[in-house]
Amino acid sequence: MLFRSLLFIAHYAGLLKLNKVTDAIVYEKKLNYYKFLENFVAIEDKLTDLKDKAGYILDSLVDAMGLENATLYLYDDEKNTFELVAYKGLSREKLRDIDHIARNNPFIKFLRKENIYVANENNDFSDEYDAKKIKDSFRTMNAKLAMPLYYGLPLFHSRDMIGFLNIGDKKNKASYTKEDMDILNAFARQISTCIGKERLYSRAITDDLTKLYRIDYLSKRIQEEIERFHRYGRHFSLLFMDIDDFKNVNDRFGHQVGDSVLKKVANIIRNIVRKADIAARYGGEEFASIFINTNEGQSFDIDERLRKQIARHNFSSLADYPDVRITVSIGLASFPDHGEIKEELIANADKTMYIAKFSGKNKTCI
Ligand code: GH3
Ligand code: MG
Ligand code: MG
Repeated sequence: MLFRSLLFIAHYAGLLKLNKVTDAIVYEKKLNYYKFLENFVAIEDKLTDLKDKAGYILDSLVDAMGLENATLYLYDDEKNTFELVAYKGLSREKLRDIDHIARNNPFIKFLRKENIYVANENNDFSDEYDAKKIKDSFRTMNAKLAMPLYYGLPLFHSRDMIGFLNIGDKKNKASYTKEDMDILNAFARQISTCIGKERLYSRAITDDLTKLYRIDYLSKRIQEEIERFHRYGRHFSLLFMDIDDFKNVNDRFGHQVGDSVLKKVANIIRNIVRKADIAARYGGEEFASIFINTNEGQSFDIDERLRKQIARHNFSSLADYPDVRITVSIGLASFPDHGEIKEELIANADKTMYIAKFSGKNKTCI
């Protein structure tokens, strides 16, 4: 009897110990998850670039879950593809052929239907997942990707599939548990919310046609730069640019060609400004840019480069189509020399742009 009781106690103690170990593992993961959430909130405002954010998110996920590798894809409206935006634990070389995945790829269709897929060949999963269907689909995908893929987690925001995560092996090659999956799902929801919000914001501040910033965002940034000048003495300049005789382009070639000219002008501007600068579409065929940390002379040089590049460019899209040429008039105002408050600075940039117009066009004026 005593022996039996001892055996029972020993058995129970063993179970208890095992429970403690699993509790500790689960707890640690949860703790990592909460730490991740905490950091997440902290970075939301700090990292303005979506790619930086995506990189940070993936790094945190890999660390918190102890993963060998993971990749993050986000949907690109323009290209209609899911683009690889962040990866960890895999070489760029390995991902070269799968850095974008078409929207109509069967894998995407599959992911869109269900919430999570498990494709670890050695794993037997609970009955709530149709393991065979899932494994078959992943096997096909793996063959295409020439790499193992374990979990695909779709990211949804307002019913749109905005991206997905591919999660590789765990560091110790251990099997994924139901607990892991719950935490991964929680991660996925959090990431979706963060990225979804970011995309909505980015759409709200971006002009549809040119993908440059909208005027209200530019205005906000001018105010911020003024405040920065007062704190750190950082100069900046404001450019105003208007296409000369743009009405003629529309009249001669039609509005579609006109629109494509506007897009191409935006690309030229984007290529000339630096990453920190702000380029915006101010109105129909008017553009504005903030050049950060740039004085009048430096800004004049950039403006002249821009003006000459536009004047040299043939905007015709078709080889056998007549040349489509345009010129631009540019006005420049530097802070604080040409205006000590936002409205004054804008008015001065606008005024000098009109001086360029009235003194013969295709010019930069200060
Ligand atoms: P100026 O040299 O004095 O600037 O002459 P302009 O013809 O460029 O100026 P105006 O302001 O008289 O006309 C601007 C034209 O820009 C009128 C309008 O048809 C065209 N425009 C404005 N927004 C768009 C747009 O989004 N797409 C196209 N295709 N044309 C646009
Ligand atoms: Mg105009
Ligand atoms: Mg014009």
